[in-house]
Amino acid sequence: MTDIKIPLRDMRFAMRELLDWDQHYASLGYEEATPDLVDAILEEGSKFCENVLAPLNQIGDQQGCTWKDGEVTTPEGFKEAYQQFVEAGWPSLAHDPHHGGQGLPPSLGTVMSEMVGTANWSWGMYPGLSHGAMNTLEAHGTDEQKDTYLTKLVEGTWTGTMCLTEPHCGTDLGILRTKAEPNADGSYAISGTKIFISAGEHDMAENIVHIVLARLPDAPAGTKGISLFIVPKFLPNADGSIGERNGVACGSLEHKMGIHGNATAVLNFDGAKGYLIGPPNKGLNCMFTFMNTARLGTALQGLAHAEAGFQKSLAYAKDRLQMRSLSGPKNPDGAADPIIVHPDVRRMLLTQKAFAEGGRMLILLCAQQVDRLQKGSDEDKKEADELLAFLTPIAKAFLTETGFESANLGMQCFGGHGYIAEWGMEQNVRDARISTIYEGTTGIQALDLLGRKVLMTQGESLRRFTKMVHKFCQAEIDTEALAPYVTKLQELNKQWGELTMHVGAKAMENPDEVGAASVDYLMYSGYAVEAFLWARAAKVANDKLAAGEGEAEFYRAKLATARFYFDRILPRTATHAAAMQSGADNLMELDAEHFAF
Ligand SMILES: Cc1cc2nc3c(=O)[nH]c(=O)nc-3n(C[C@H](O)[C@H](O)[C@H](O)COP(=O)(O)OP(=O)(O)OC[C@H]3O[C@@H](n4cnc5c(N)ncnc54)[C@H](O)[C@@H]3O)c2cc1C
Repeated sequence: MTDIKIPLRDMRFAMRELLDWDQHYASLGYEEATPDLVDAILEEGSKFCENVLAPLNQIGDQQGCTWKDGEVTTPEGFKEAYQQFVEAGWPSLAHDPHHGGQGLPPSLGTVMSEMVGTANWSWGMYPGLSHGAMNTLEAHGTDEQKDTYLTKLVEGTWTGTMCLTEPHCGTDLGILRTKAEPNADGSYAISGTKIFISAGEHDMAENIVHIVLARLPDAPAGTKGISLFIVPKFLPNADGSIGERNGVACGSLEHKMGIHGNATAVLNFDGAKGYLIGPPNKGLNCMFTFMNTARLGTALQGLAHAEAGFQKSLAYAKDRLQMRSLSGPKNPDGAADPIIVHPDVRRMLLTQKAFAEGGRMLILLCAQQVDRLQKGSDEDKKEADELLAFLTPIAKAFLTETGFESANLGMQCFGGHGYIAEWGMEQNVRDARISTIYEGTTGIQALDLLGRKVLMTQGESLRRFTKMVHKFCQAEIDTEALAPYVTKLQELNKQWGELTMHVGAKAMENPDEVGAASVDYLMYSGYAVEAFLWARAAKVANDKLAAGEGEAEFYRAKLATARFYFDRILPRTATHAAAMQSGADNLMELDAEHFAF
């Protein structure tokens, strides 16, 4: 089986050459994030991921997590890898120095998460959930809560979870039932059942900090009556050590399609002691901090599986001999030609490559906005916040949909050998599948984008983005080598606005038009956003080649991939546009009872 290699050259391209992070860090005052330090993180982080985490990926899938009497054992090697991760200080990388963090930019945390996720997604979910818990406590916790819980999470000795889902509600959190009754000492007694809780129980850390949504007595119905609580597995003693076991127990683990190395727990809260985070009944607002971290984290999953599938299928396509090239033998001394000579295999490889590299550019663009939100001027913060609000549902849904498509194509490149377990390609497909479901399904992200982000701002969020595209087009209008990209981007910009107006106008008469158009709108937007990034990548490559700087082959490959993206992937927007314009009637006319006979 091919070993995973962290794609450091391409990561440096996106970070430095495309998004100019050295300057970005300096301008925001991240003095410690020097180019040397960033390189050291990339080098050390990639070694850990390649040598420690990647070899555990298949073991994790085969062994899975096991439950016995409420205790969960993770696959062989997971716990030891986590200890190494903690000893190296990785959990604290991008967190608050007041609580033991290294205070490096959040975007560097994202870069590390990409490396971890590419090597072993299931393992990466344990520290991944902790990041969300840390961000929530940093944003909404009291000083005492930060001292008690955040410090331990930053150290990595405790991990975190996100407890939203209940048996009867996943998308619709307004109907959740878990109760929080006030105790005399100011804490709350939490009772209810949460299901599907990732990293909900395990043996990798000494304590688990559950971040739980529950209802106070007499809370208003719906989403306005939800509060947020910290519920530790072990109640901490005053000196920070772990004390008594709290009333939360893992009732079972789910049996599932993929990500077997990650424990998906049913958690029973039986009068467990909990502490309110943020104001009463504002829990969902506070939880949005967690959910936004988790959405970008899940967008990364799409990228991780696209990259892993691409690397393995590329190596296989160069090695596997099957049939002759249509244009004459390319390996005349061999029994047949390597399958990479066949146009259709190249289509599958280039699709994965374009989605992996395009996904990376989009994730890092989002991560850059998170840095600006943390350290920018007020104006910077506002701009970053608006851009991030627009890009987050696109990144989450588009990158996971294309990540799953890529994982599937990676498997297809292997023929029958992809379908059997040995090569790890079917695991990659199974592991990727959940990413379009959790953290809000593609359908829900699409409603968020079209309904809340675009139509409710009267199209303003879209206009802000298309202005950036327009500015790029204006600047490059006379660059001959970029003409095909600029022309296409201009067309897209115009059509994107028209489609938005079209759906918006129809929605005034029939609200179902929004739901009917939303997934096509989101996918259209994803292709358009990545087109902008691919055009910018083509510009960088073109400039470098013209100046004779750097490795010409790398930049030529960028240009070839950009061209492939524009010629062969971007035309998909036409289908999405047509589907959107066809309206809601073709979906709604059939009575529910007439769907099947
Ligand atoms: C492996 C795994 C790990 C998970 N980890 C966590 C975790 O750590 N913490 C946690 O709290 N949860 C977790 N979840 C839960 C996950 O977030 C939910 O499964 C997800 O949000 C969907 O909820 P649901 O399963 O109840 O589906 P439902 O909400 O019942 O949705 C069913 C279908 O209906 C669609 N739908 C629902 N409402 C609408 C609407 N208004 N418009 C259009 N379509 C709609 C959905 O898109 C979906 O296709 C996990 C789930 C799994 C399987």
